[in-house]
Amino acid sequence: MASSAESMHVRRRLSLPEGAQGGRIFWPYLTYFLAFHLFALAALLPYFFSWTGVLLVFLGNYLFGSCGVNIGYHRLLTHGSFKCAKWLEHFFAILGMCSLQDSPVRWVAIHRKHHQFSDEQPDPHSPLVNFFWGHMGWLIKENREFATLDMVEKYARDLVQDRFYRRTHAGNRWLLYWAGHVAILSVLFALVAWLVSPTTKEAIQFGLSLFVWGVIVRTVYVWHITWAVNSASHFWGYRNYVTNEDSTNNWVVAFLTNGEGWHNNHHADQRSASHGHRWWEIDLTHWTIKGLEAVGLVWDVLPPRVPKQRLAGPASSETSGAA
Ligand SMILES: [Zn+2]
Ligand SMILES: [Zn+2]
Repeated sequence: MASSAESMHVRRRLSLPEGAQGGRIFWPYLTYFLAFHLFALAALLPYFFSWTGVLLVFLGNYLFGSCGVNIGYHRLLTHGSFKCAKWLEHFFAILGMCSLQDSPVRWVAIHRKHHQFSDEQPDPHSPLVNFFWGHMGWLIKENREFATLDMVEKYARDLVQDRFYRRTHAGNRWLLYWAGHVAILSVLFALVAWLVSPTTKEAIQFGLSLFVWGVIVRTVYVWHITWAVNSASHFWGYRNYVTNEDSTNNWVVAFLTNGEGWHNNHHADQRSASHGHRWWEIDLTHWTIKGLEAVGLVWDVLPPRVPKQRLAGPASSETSGAA
């Protein structure tokens, strides 16, 4: 457990979680992933390129990734790191749905299970099975447990009791919110392209570039950086705290995800709204929460509360990529 993770440089190996053993390919997700990745390749064609489109990836990551997944799905719904009005909580959840990362109910249930069994066999996505498994392999293999009501009842009972989350989860209705945001963005992009382009031909080209980068590339980008928290931030980086798993602070993932990569800090103190615990551990997601607190939209923002003795010591243990 903890001692072996800290002292050994040889990585432990885990077998697949029980629910995934003997499971088949989960075609719905694999189909989505293949389609989006193939479509995202269109971004490489000069016809679909525009710098405005590239900018939209980062703006979209902030809005739907950082505000939707980090603030909404993760820090608020999973861990209750702060409080806010129900309408704002639902708004954050809708932003999260626009990142195409499953319903809030299932996301939260899986993530809470990850915290309960981090880097042990029942962990749904430990990279100790293998790096690809921790990154995205766990999503494309059938896991019988994910299909049961037991899991969501056990790990996300609070959300299931909320009519909004229950209804969006049932029959995958959350996908309607995702489709709605695609429709709204498409109209917005078409309008902007039509307004700023001198000819119809250029308007079509510019509008398509905004769609390919602002929707497709952004979705794929937010997928991978979110998945990197589960894979890279349990694999490479330094540790501020002695914890019972292999979580790490990975500055690359932290930079890309606006703060989620300070994952060892997060495992040590799961309810803290701030994942950056040292002055250089920049956490834009936390700054956003503090900004919302300053204008009175959120309150009871939980600060880090980690006992000092849990610090890993002056020479924070580094984990190497060695298998
Ligand atoms: Zn983790
Ligand atoms: Zn968490």
